[in-house]
Amino acid sequence: MTDITATPPTHERPWLDAALPVEERIDLLLAEMTLAEKVGQTHQVANIDPDADADEIAAGRIGSSLYASGATAGNERDEGILVGNIDAAQRHAVEGSRLGIPLLFGRDVIHGHRTVAPIPLGIAASFDADLAEEIGTIAAREAVVDGVAWTFAPMVDLSEEPRWGRVAESLGETPVLSGRLAAGLVRGFQGDDVSDPDRLAACAKHFAGYGLAAGGRDYDTVSVGENTLRNLHLRPFKAAVDAGVTTVMAAFNDVDGIPMHAHEHLIRGVLKGEWGFDGMVVADWNGVGQLVNAGVAADLREAAAQAIRAGVDLDMCSGAYLAHLEELVESADVDLALVDDAVRRVLRLKFRLGLFERPYAARPGASNAPTPETREVALRAGQAAHVLVKNDGVLPLDASADATGSVLLSGAFVDDGDALLGTWVLDGRGEEVVTPGPALRERLGDRVTVADGRFSDVTLMQARAAETTVLLLGEHRSRSGEAQSVVDIGLPPGQLEVLRAVAALGKPLVAVVYTGRPLDLSEVLDLADAVLVVWHPGTEAGNALASVLLGEVEPHGRLPMTFPLSTGHIPTSTHQRPTGRLIRADVDHEEGRYIDALTYPRLPFGFGLSYTTVEYSAPTVSTETLPTDGWVTLSVTVTNTGARVCREVVQLYFRDPVAQVTRPLVELTDWALVDLEPGQAREVTFEVAAEQTAYAGRDLTTRVDEGEIVLLTGPDSARLQPVSVTVTKKDS
Ligand code: BGC
Repeated sequence: MTDITATPPTHERPWLDAALPVEERIDLLLAEMTLAEKVGQTHQVANIDPDADADEIAAGRIGSSLYASGATAGNERDEGILVGNIDAAQRHAVEGSRLGIPLLFGRDVIHGHRTVAPIPLGIAASFDADLAEEIGTIAAREAVVDGVAWTFAPMVDLSEEPRWGRVAESLGETPVLSGRLAAGLVRGFQGDDVSDPDRLAACAKHFAGYGLAAGGRDYDTVSVGENTLRNLHLRPFKAAVDAGVTTVMAAFNDVDGIPMHAHEHLIRGVLKGEWGFDGMVVADWNGVGQLVNAGVAADLREAAAQAIRAGVDLDMCSGAYLAHLEELVESADVDLALVDDAVRRVLRLKFRLGLFERPYAARPGASNAPTPETREVALRAGQAAHVLVKNDGVLPLDASADATGSVLLSGAFVDDGDALLGTWVLDGRGEEVVTPGPALRERLGDRVTVADGRFSDVTLMQARAAETTVLLLGEHRSRSGEAQSVVDIGLPPGQLEVLRAVAALGKPLVAVVYTGRPLDLSEVLDLADAVLVVWHPGTEAGNALASVLLGEVEPHGRLPMTFPLSTGHIPTSTHQRPTGRLIRADVDHEEGRYIDALTYPRLPFGFGLSYTTVEYSAPTVSTETLPTDGWVTLSVTVTNTGARVCREVVQLYFRDPVAQVTRPLVELTDWALVDLEPGQAREVTFEVAAEQTAYAGRDLTTRVDEGEIVLLTGPDSARLQPVSVTVTKKDS
């Protein structure tokens, strides 16, 4: 074992001069490195162990660690993951290795660290990029206390596939919403300067096309053309890159036969070349090794060669680079320049993070337990994720001091904090979650009966006695997320039976749906008087729900994914493209893409109600023509016609009626969050640049066409009013 108390090497380390430009520091360091040390920088291990891995670290054979957490705590093991002693491992690298290159500690901090915000799909329902930034900021501040320097978020995979469990981790189905929220999270994680000790490096993942996994089966193959990739799936990645994301993760899937870990065209060509991304590309877990399973590499050696050529810089846990890159270079099968490029990108990140100046994480006395301030952000985020999708007037519940009506709160999630945290939570604690039962009791006292978490015939007796029943339905957090695909997006077994029985009592019934994916809510919508889709809301789940149920805040979330009529209707989304045979419900009476069902969505993208009503005027434009490099001001007046305040998400879509390739029937391009007092009317304006209609044409280059563009405004993707503009040649 290395003696870490030994005097650090004394030879000069000019790259430690923080006054030098980063690229110069990298040059100085690269010039000193042996091939073996270079390869070491491209190797990431899981659960680094400061004792068992001491010699490898000191030999410069490990560049990064995944999962390890805790700066100075003891060697506790939690579900096989080493917590604590990050700094002990770091000392082997900084003080025990020849060049003293610090290790990079990564961990999945996806929608919060100790204080947990809603799942990303819930964050997306807020349509609020500033809120996403706040969530990223507090997550980073908490994670650095545990020694984490790099998180594997945001995930920006677009998907039309509710069967795919990972939609929970996504920011919805549309490129602009996903891209803007991703940019917000990146700003939150990384700040203006990622070397700020309270910030983390972020990672846009999974590059690319992962949301198209066949049949919604996780990791499955993807058949997609480059036009669709460019017009949809690559766009949020580009937005994250433009927002300065420092790393990108390769996806597990193939794209039209080429696994992404070997996809030279998309990674080295598009991401690094065309977009000029100078950050680091990390493999997904054993993604390099899995090139063998995918049948495109005979062994790990070939897998390593393909991945380094493709542009994967850091090998997450497969060991292929460590085992084979040196020999691949020596035998001239891999060009040294490729390894140098990968190492340069790893070192660039370490310099950018300030790890050479500040390698150690310990902050004596620092705590990252939830505080009133972080809980306040989690509460606002939880509330913003609540999407009211039906209300026959039963909500909000009467919370006035003299109200007497009794309320039954029942269902699996009344007091299960862990279930409400959401899918990707390594550090949040169930016992720190405010659950719905106590939150409602605090507000309603004896008016509320909180049933135990199980549905039984007692539930029915209690519902009969209560004036209003609130049923908590939906999925446990472990039913969505990675590798949690389902063949049926109906409610979990048993829940509909209870819903039917309670509904048969004929009393006011509110259904609250916890979920990591769009579910088939057809029967819930038929039977309940009010329905709230709340995803998995995180640490402040109970307070968020109680405050919305009682009207302390108005629901203002909007659906970031289409809810289909049934499982059989998947895939369905807002960016459906026209076919040669247009189907018109008004002419065909019943639109007929299936003979046994209609095809419209059960709940369209962007849909959500508030406790008031809002009317939209027809949109108007400042000019009917605009040049390809110009813009137009669109105005729409929204009027709160009800008796309560609201926050309206005024949405702007467009359609390009004639283009080189089929274009979406409607595509979200902008929106505004507008607060309205009762009776208030506000004019909302959007500056619409012709460039917002840009798309990849037949030759895959980006173009803005001349001709008609239809701009559409409204409260969701299905209730839109149009106005046309004509894009003309650029003014010369
Ligand atoms: C997931 C990634 C994740 C990584 C590390 C993989 O299985 O696909 O999203 O960041 O594990 O936990």
